[in-house]
Amino acid sequence: MSEIKTIGVLTSGGDSPGMNAAIRAIVRAGIANGLQVKGICRGYAGLLGSEIIDLDSRSVSGIQSRGGTILYTARCKEFYKAEGIDRGVQVLRENGIDGLVVIGGDGSFRGAQEIAARGINTIGIPGTIDLDIACTEYTIGFDTAVNTAMDAIDKITDTSMSHERCSIIEVMGRNAGFIALWCQIANGADGILIPEAEKFDERDLIDTILSNRQKGKKHHIIINAEGVGSSMRLARRVEAATGIETRATILGHIQRGGSPTAKDRVYASTMGAYSVDLLCSGATNRVIAYRNGHFTDLDIDEALAMKKTIDEYQFLVSQMIGQY
Ligand code: ADP
Repeated sequence: MSEIKTIGVLTSGGDSPGMNAAIRAIVRAGIANGLQVKGICRGYAGLLGSEIIDLDSRSVSGIQSRGGTILYTARCKEFYKAEGIDRGVQVLRENGIDGLVVIGGDGSFRGAQEIAARGINTIGIPGTIDLDIACTEYTIGFDTAVNTAMDAIDKITDTSMSHERCSIIEVMGRNAGFIALWCQIANGADGILIPEAEKFDERDLIDTILSNRQKGKKHHIIINAEGVGSSMRLARRVEAATGIETRATILGHIQRGGSPTAKDRVYASTMGAYSVDLLCSGATNRVIAYRNGHFTDLDIDEALAMKKTIDEYQFLVSQMIGQY
């Protein structure tokens, strides 16, 4: 029998579709292993406010098909300070929580690392639409988000084509260009702007649009990753330089919502169940990852020290097949 009797789960940082599937799996796997499961609402902020609820099997019924997180999420400044973390650990102990699962990104894992260092067994699950967690090839929500962006770009492409215009479409990703790169391959685009690219030459982009127009292309799509620069200003510059009507669309939070894809539901559920297995085996300070076709786990310290960049080959492919 495991020594752990009660586990807690929280979602932290940006929400992502599939988090609910992970929560459901944690609750159900926890109960199957004879554990009590508690939900901590609003991430670390809710932990400090003791916003803790009991979760049973029925309380998570059907949530795997819903985007967002039933536990709500938040950012919490107090958790950057030792006193805040000490208080959080005290609240966990007061509620009898001896194992914790944190679903979130790198920032949330730093909080999890601090909790683990104070003696509460803690496991991280990668949850972010941005895919920007170095230790894993999968993060909860990316698949749904990139499919949402792809559908939106298809729709914008239809109207862009009818009006023979140029469309600049801004996708999310914080400081990472994964959504943009996937969309360039999935949708086709005259160009992408991503934070990872060493240099971006606006003149090259304008020349590409002009040369594609000369070859007979009637519409143009530029995908701009959030964080590279203002899409509105870029649209004005492209229109001035090319003489082609250019509109900017910022997809925004639509990419965070919606019913999760099958992949997000299945992978998030697997990671949720895996986190319970880890807690039952006495593990702590681990983060779950998907690498080389397998679910696995790594030390959080090791995971946070890793660096991620876009796949060079994938980038080359996107450039090559994007040519008109
Ligand atoms: P994400 O988890 O998606 O990367 P953030 O970086 O906003 O999102 O982090 C979420 C929360 O995790 C923060 O609001 C804070 O409460 C906590 N956190 C982030 N960094 C640290 C840290 N270095 N130490 C303790 N807690 C942290």
